[in-house]
Formats: sequence, C-alpha cells, structure tokens
Amino acid sequence: VPWEPPTLARVLNRIDLRGGSRDPRGLLPRAQLDVSEAVDRIRPVVEAVREHGFAAIREATERFDGVTVDRLRVPAEAIAAAERQLDPDVRAALVEAIARARRVHGDQRRVDVTTQVVPGGTVTERWVPVSRVGLYVPGGLAMYPSTVVMNVVPAQVAGVESLVVASPPQRDNDGLPDARVLAACALLGVDEVYAVGGAQAVAMLGYGAETTADGTERCAPVDVITGPGNIWVTAAKRLLRGVVGIDAEAGPTEIAILADDTADPVHVAADLISQAEHDPLAASVLVTPSVALVEAVERELARQVPATKHSERVTTALTGAQSGAVLVDDLEAGLRVVDAYAAEHLEIQTRDARHWAMRVRNAGAIFVGAYAPVSLGDYCAGSNHVLPTGGCARHSSGLSVQSFLRGIHVVDYDEAALRDVAAHVVTLANAEDLPAHGQAVQARFGGATPA
Ligand code: NAD
Repeated sequence: VPWEPPTLARVLNRIDLRGGSRDPRGLLPRAQLDVSEAVDRIRPVVEAVREHGFAAIREATERFDGVTVDRLRVPAEAIAAAERQLDPDVRAALVEAIARARRVHGDQRRVDVTTQVVPGGTVTERWVPVSRVGLYVPGGLAMYPSTVVMNVVPAQVAGVESLVVASPPQRDNDGLPDARVLAACALLGVDEVYAVGGAQAVAMLGYGAETTADGTERCAPVDVITGPGNIWVTAAKRLLRGVVGIDAEAGPTEIAILADDTADPVHVAADLISQAEHDPLAASVLVTPSVALVEAVERELARQVPATKHSERVTTALTGAQSGAVLVDDLEAGLRVVDAYAAEHLEIQTRDARHWAMRVRNAGAIFVGAYAPVSLGDYCAGSNHVLPTGGCARHSSGLSVQSFLRGIHVVDYDEAALRDVAAHVVTLANAEDLPAHGQAVQARFGGATPA
C-alpha cells in the first residue's frame, strides 16, 4: 500500500498544560510499553537457552530472525574481512567517534579513595572492574556500529578484561551480524562476537552456552550485560537482572525539546524527525510556551517528513500516542514538565540555554543550544548514547565507565583503633539483639569490652 502523507496540518498530538498547576506526570505522552507482558512472552525462550544452549538459540534464531545457523561465534576471518572492506569514510568517522569517546570516558576513571577514620583505622574504596561483560548491539530495524563504540569504550577504559559482543544475524550478510558492526568490533580490538540477537542473546550472555552443536565452542557467562535493544531485549534483561548486572533499561528512543520562540523551527522539526527515525515506537516531544513555534514546527514537519528516507516509520512515531507538543505557560513550567518526563535525550533550544540545562534534574543526556543536536551525541560528541528511556532517567544514568566498576570497601583497623571503638560496637550489637557480633570484638580483648 503506497504511503500517503497525512494532511500534516497536525502531526503531533497537542497537550495543553497552560493555566493550571497540575502535576504534569501522567498527562505527558509516553509509549505504553508493557515490558512485563513481554517478559512473560520471552521467558520460555530464556529458559530454553538456559537448559538447551545452542539448540535453543538456533531454534529461536530461526523463528525470530529467519536465519539458520551452524555456529554462533563469528570467525576471526570474518571480523578482519569486515574491517578490510569497510568504506574509508565510515572508517574515518568511526575512528573519530572512538577517539572522542575515549577522551570523555578516559576522564571518568575513578580513583581509589582512602579515608583515615582514626589513627590506625582506614577505609579504602577500591574501584574494581567486572571481569567479563556482554555488550548487546541491536540489529533489527537499523544497524548500530556506533553502539559498539558506546558500549566497548567505557568497558575498556574501566579495565574489563573480557568483552563479548552479541548482535543479530543478518540474512543479507550470510547470517553474520552487520558488516559495519563487525568492522567496529575490529577497530576496537574485540574478537569475541556472536551472531545472536533478541532475548536469546541476553540469555546466552547471562547463562553462558555451548555455541556449536558438538559443544566444541562455548560462550562463558558474563558478569554484566549492557546495551540497548527492542522490547524483547529489554524484557530479557529485566528477567536476567540479578543473575547478572544490567545497565539501565534502554528501550525505544526518546527526544524531548524544551524550546522558546528563539528556537529555529527547521532545527526543531529535523531533530524530532531524527529520533523518530529509530523506531515506530520512538517518542518525539516538544515542550514550549510558544504556540507560534508549534505551528511553525508543524509546517516544517509537513515539509520535511515526506522527504525523509524512513518517512513511514517517522510518521508512525510522530503521530503515535508517545509523541506530541506540550504547551506550557512559560519556561519555568516547561522545566517542570521535562523533569517530570525525564527524557532519554533532552534538547534545550531557548535563550540562555545553558542556564536552563544546568537546572534540569532528570534527563539521560542534555543537549544545549542550536549547535548540539542529539545526532551529534548519537555519534561524535564523545558522550555516551546508551541512555535510560521510559522515565528511568529519574533514577538511572547512561552508560559510563562507572557501569563496569564496583566500589569495594577495604576496612583496615589496627588493635588500638578497634579498642578505641569497641564499646560502641558492642552496644549497637546488643541493641540489635545480636550479641555474638559484640562477642566477636570482645574475643580480641580477652573476652571483655576493653575500657
Ligand atoms: P534489536 O537487535 O533490539 O532486536 C532484534 C531482535 O529481536 C532479533 O534478533 C530477534 O531475535 C528479536 N525479535 C524480533 N521479533 C521478535 C518477537 N516477536 N519475539 C521475540 N523476539 C523477537 O533491534 P531493533 O528491533 O532494531 O531495536 C533496537 C532498539 O534499540 C530500537 O528501539 C532503538 O530505538 C533502540 N536503541 C536505543 C538506544 C539507546 O541508547 N536507548 C541506542 C540505539 C538503539
């Protein structure tokens, strides 16, 4: 069926929050993604992979990706060939993206801190990387070599020893992951790559699996799984949380733009479209006190949407219930709205944009002014693009070096330092009716609390 451009007088749903002091939460557009229902749907897949490994992964890959696989691990030659065949411009862009991400993430490295609590008593917080991580790189609707960069760079900077990438097999690449994804792995020095996607990939990483029918190859289980993905990937990560560490849920992408009448509607429309391009479920939300801007952005959408390559997907996303234009009384009210929304990506296109950006409390990443579009952050700003979606920015951060580190407290007290505080420990132990706790201290001082 040929796609007919909508009348486009109004693409975006309009939500008018002017003249009220209502709590904007609940009134804002947001995809009703039922991850718990998806969890129930993929639970059998995850359990089958846990029990049957390769056979179950193969079966799921046939069912969901339409690909029959003999082995899952990508041969070293295929990774090297993908790098050799990489378009030189794409290579140069990836190399620049990697260099910038390394600069930013290199500065995030934590230093161990030792606090001298009392003479002879110290606590050191040691930041220790996890040993092995599984990085999911999506490959359904779009291919994401940039996501390889965003996952691998912070893990490498953190000092993770063993990195494994999983990405869906592509029918047009002989059942291997996308060639640019493989090339990005090569550029970053990652050689353990599996052609597995969806929930089966998350299960393989979490539980480990034989990756050949005869058991000659094995994917060892990882400690942490990171990376974005569709609802099936997100659901599987939720299911595996606890078995392994999981980064924030990064589902269908979102952009919110806080703008005033100084914003250029051409930019605003282009940026709304750019995120809508990811996914029919992607959310594009404009928050503004300016009715004139909304009208101008609508006119721009009418002009730009039909001309964009993925106009059908973009239209579905822009007209979906998860997208819209929110009218507010002023930028103060707009700030409350964007804080309540907690967007994955938040652009500030206002007068004094940096001032407003610094006041935002909830967002995955914030893009300031006319020359920092989200696309810059998607690829080459140096910042990370694996960010919390669906409001998770209220409590979680995007991927960073920190995602791959644990802070271990090293408690080091000598005899005098313990003696000094022993009475308080014994008192608290008794107050909690855990006298053996106190006795463990007293045992070091002849069975009594030292004076
Ligand atoms: P994907 O790799 O996440 O999903 C593809 C896999 O889903 C396939 O391998 C298949 O096995 C599985 N699958 C497909 N249909 C299924 C079904 N009915 N039941 C069970 N499994 C099924 O790729 P995608 O679909 O393109 O999704 C990528 C998502 O990641 C998009 O929503 C995009 O917006 C998001 N993304 C987010 C960020 C971020 O940082 N938040 C970054 C990049 C991409």
